Amino acid sequence: MKYSVVIPAYNEQEVLHLSYSRLKKAMEGLGDYELIFVNDGSRDDTLKVLKEIAAEDKTVKVISFSRNFGHQEAVSAGMAKAQGGAVVIIDCDLQDPPEVIPGMVEKWKNGADIVYGQRIKRKGETVFKKLTAWAYYRVLKMLGGQYIPANTGDFRLIDKKVCETLVAMPEKNRFLRGMAAWSGFKAEPLEYVRDERAAGQTKYSMKKMMKLAGDGITSFSNRPLKAPLYFGMALLMLSLAYLVLSVIFVCVAVWTYQHILFAAVFCLISVILISLGIFGLYLGRIYDEAKARPIYIIDEEINMEGI
Ligand code: UDP
Ligand code: MG
Repeated sequence: MKYSVVIPAYNEQEVLHLSYSRLKKAMEGLGDYELIFVNDGSRDDTLKVLKEIAAEDKTVKVISFSRNFGHQEAVSAGMAKAQGGAVVIIDCDLQDPPEVIPGMVEKWKNGADIVYGQRIKRKGETVFKKLTAWAYYRVLKMLGGQYIPANTGDFRLIDKKVCETLVAMPEKNRFLRGMAAWSGFKAEPLEYVRDERAAGQTKYSMKKMMKLAGDGITSFSNRPLKAPLYFGMALLMLSLAYLVLSVIFVCVAVWTYQHILFAAVFCLISVILISLGIFGLYLGRIYDEAKARPIYIIDEEINMEGI
């Protein structure tokens, strides 16, 4: 099998036939392929439509969840079953045009392990969504997720070895685009214009979006846990200076004694913040261990057969 395409679908009955035909057309020129649709516990006729399509076409494979588990989980399930040498992840709603896939394949053939779609324009998305996405990737970068590129979603092509690496990562709260970037495999962008949804409405509720955003930050940065430490240390310095000044000024009878009291309270608050930060340092380490990510990823081995 040369190519696998993983397509998560949650309540997408209106768009499935169109997605299927456009995907088929895009893949046909490329060679041997499979389309793996993952029905993420849809409550409409998504599964029924998928079964009809799969009955006619053996390149279509369907995985169906018992309930709605979420987009990242659906993509992970499809990746776990993918057999292709390259795996494409694409949304079902045709916002990511399947016609971009051959360009991704080209870059993969030229040596890229990950070809991620980078949106140069987003059609039909609200100003709120564009603004929050813009701000979010900047915050993520600031917090230490430097390697996660902005203006990207999960639309990408990954080599089999990247797919296997991600599938083997046992973390439960999955932010796949971050995990792919974290893996360090050779990644190249491919610019594209993100279309409007072909039919239906967004399946990403505000709650799901917040969960994804939270996962992105908490999976790739321990800095929020350490923030009280730095803040506490800065406050302690200031409070100590204030304490010294107030003692001097109270002694020469310029200030009233309350200043000493204030300074002492600030010192105590800083000590509490520092303790919280130290707690965070240890918690961060425990979290890293709990994520159980591989401690290294081997890209190639040379002359290692039989060792
Ligand atoms: N999706 C999913 N499970 C969910 C929510 C969404 O499998 O719980 C799928 C959905 O069917 C689509 C993709 O994830 O193929 C992206 O969702 P959507 O287009 O609604 O998100 P948006 O593009 O609005 O961010
Ligand atoms: Mg969409």
